[in-house]
Amino acid sequence: MSELYLRVALPTPLRRLFDYRALADIPVSAWQPGVRVKVPFGSREVVGVVLHTTDTTEVPVSKLRTITELIDEKPLLPPSVMQLISWTSQYYQHSLGDTFSRALPVLLRQGEPAVAQKKLFYTAATDAQLDDVRVKNAPRQRQALQAVLQHKRGLAHEQLSSLELQKSSIDALLEKGLLHKEWRSVHQPPSNLPVLAQMPLALNAEQKVAFDSISQQLGRFKVFLLAGVTGSGKTEVYLHLIEQVLNKKQQVLVLIPEINLGPQTFSRFQQRFNVRVALLHSEVNDRERLNAWLAARDGQAEIVIGTRSALFTPFKNLGLIIIDEEHDASYKQQEALRYHARDLALVRARQADIPVVLGSATPSLESLHNANSGRYALLRLNTRAGTAKLPQFKRLDVRSLPLDSGISMPLQKAIERTLAAGQQVLVFLNRRGFSPVLLCNDCGWMGKCRDCDARLTLHQRYNELRCHHCGHVEKRPLACPGCESLQLHPVGEGTERAEERLQILFAQVPILRIDRDTTARKGALDAMLNTVNQGKPCILLGTQMLAKGHHFPRVTLVAILNADGGLFSADFRSSERMAQLILQVAGRAGRAQDPGEVIIQSHLADHPLLVQLTEQGYFAFAEQALSERRAAGLPPYSYMALLRAEAVSSIQVDNFLQDALALSEQLLAHYQLQQLECLGPVAAPMERRAGRYRAQLLFIAHKRKDLQQLLHALCFNLELLPSARQARWSVDVDPIDL
Ligand code: ADP
Ligand code: ZN
Ligand code: ZN
Repeated sequence: MSELYLRVALPTPLRRLFDYRALADIPVSAWQPGVRVKVPFGSREVVGVVLHTTDTTEVPVSKLRTITELIDEKPLLPPSVMQLISWTSQYYQHSLGDTFSRALPVLLRQGEPAVAQKKLFYTAATDAQLDDVRVKNAPRQRQALQAVLQHKRGLAHEQLSSLELQKSSIDALLEKGLLHKEWRSVHQPPSNLPVLAQMPLALNAEQKVAFDSISQQLGRFKVFLLAGVTGSGKTEVYLHLIEQVLNKKQQVLVLIPEINLGPQTFSRFQQRFNVRVALLHSEVNDRERLNAWLAARDGQAEIVIGTRSALFTPFKNLGLIIIDEEHDASYKQQEALRYHARDLALVRARQADIPVVLGSATPSLESLHNANSGRYALLRLNTRAGTAKLPQFKRLDVRSLPLDSGISMPLQKAIERTLAAGQQVLVFLNRRGFSPVLLCNDCGWMGKCRDCDARLTLHQRYNELRCHHCGHVEKRPLACPGCESLQLHPVGEGTERAEERLQILFAQVPILRIDRDTTARKGALDAMLNTVNQGKPCILLGTQMLAKGHHFPRVTLVAILNADGGLFSADFRSSERMAQLILQVAGRAGRAQDPGEVIIQSHLADHPLLVQLTEQGYFAFAEQALSERRAAGLPPYSYMALLRAEAVSSIQVDNFLQDALALSEQLLAHYQLQQLECLGPVAAPMERRAGRYRAQLLFIAHKRKDLQQLLHALCFNLELLPSARQARWSVDVDPIDL
């Protein structure tokens, strides 16, 4: 009998599979495609996925090693997700084994069994009472008993510490028979209740048209672009659609951007339906993530809400995919496996033959282009739902106005008026820290990062200079390191400085600064949002964390402190991003009865782009931006890929990219790809970062297919280059940052 070999995908950057000997005492039928195994790899042991078995191998017998352990009894993933992962690996030119690994929850990646963990609960005995003599002289035990009595369905063990209860008190109560313990499966059983837990709102005419168009296509692949202005009721349309899908006993995947909206979306969905909603979000811990993943796979969660990577979640019977805020850049992973979750959602929906809904108030130009060319169905919601109106824009030219910490007098007056009327204000400034530069007035010295081509941001509160690119931190110097002058001054403003100024100007109201520095602590953001939701006058101040998705009914004034950044950046996508950001921030104003106002402070208040955006709206802007892209041959009218490289020395980067360029030119000639250009090598926008030099080659093609053909051959050959060993390199297909 010939020997059995297994072809295994392993978490390594190498773009190939690895053969191993099967374990002799395990029946052949156990090695099904999709089971995980542990194998020796170099001097380590790694977890891989079996793709298939074979009875021939090119590996010399002396080198062949044997599987260490078979982890799964049955394939971990259904064939559909296996296919999706393999498609992803090919399209993004990433190693299949590493793609598998990254598509799985961390615990599965590490080889944990694919079973849902049970949780320990404590319940009170039927006769347990607080005045029981057995706890009379034990205040701690009485306290613990009281807590359990208050939790009618049982107190979870993991809640003990947050309730400041001691494990020893619980043990004593168990001993005395006042408590029972019980291991419960974390999966709730399906409920027999009707799908709806709450009466839905009646859709307005525009919402109804959108809903009807999509619901007619359930059970068929079709892409809908739901372009609805902020507050137009897109989420309400999703909820109506989900109801239909749930009635068909199917599941729904909802992707949301990487922002702190997970819990908010979760509770809105959970309130509406009597079904199990699972959340896959960055704040969910590894164990909960695995539980949610298993629940989706086994059909025990009807709705999954998650960020980017939730796209790879297996489902028993998926009926609809919704991508909320489809334009959001967080759908594109920016390291290692550089996939775009929105684009993969389309692949997945086509494969499952189900519709996908892309929703946004400011759709990406890619999606609008697809709608214009008829590939996507465009559905528009032009008015706000209910009684709310869209806010009025005011461009405030600050060229001749004195600014104090970035705030002009007319803006100050507008804030005063709004607060006096009992309403709330949102001030947007997309830069954290106190000031982006610390400058010496005598010699011109500026704080720069020793490892990056970047200035250090002053963080006054910590008395530190910090690099926002590599995390480098140094103490704020007392005297100028260049000339010892004491004339060191912060130039420009970040949220910390604006906060300081607003606190002086408006001492009578809370100033809530919301950025990465103030929300790092768990619960900090929730506490601030609670204050806002109480509805009393206050000023919210923050970065783009504040811009997206939030619903603040009492905010009527939105102030954009500095809108100039995107008007002259080198990246061809910067104007699109700026337009989206401005409209999203503006969209927080006037979402309830009271009308909203948006003040944009700018040194370029007459810039045609700002004028068009604020007077004619996003679609007018997008039409023009698309025609410029077409004239320049830029995406979506062409397809791009970047070959990025970095190394400690710039020579190593150059050598590698020159070799890559020569190779690309040979391949272009060989495959006769005339409509594909290869530009570079050029330095990356920030040439040195974290102590490494970075440069890149850009490929632009008229056809996606040509680009794929080139990249496939190129990556295969690059791995063999000696210069490739001196540099770290990666391919970014459809890059969104050039
Ligand atoms: P979007 O997702 O487009 O930002 P939402 O679905 O969150 O909009 O709706 C914005 C607000 O309008 C919410 O407070 C929502 O309850 C309300 N709303 C949505 N649809 C309707 C409707 N048909 N009638 C009344 N109010 C609605
Ligand atoms: Zn100096
Ligand atoms: Zn740095």
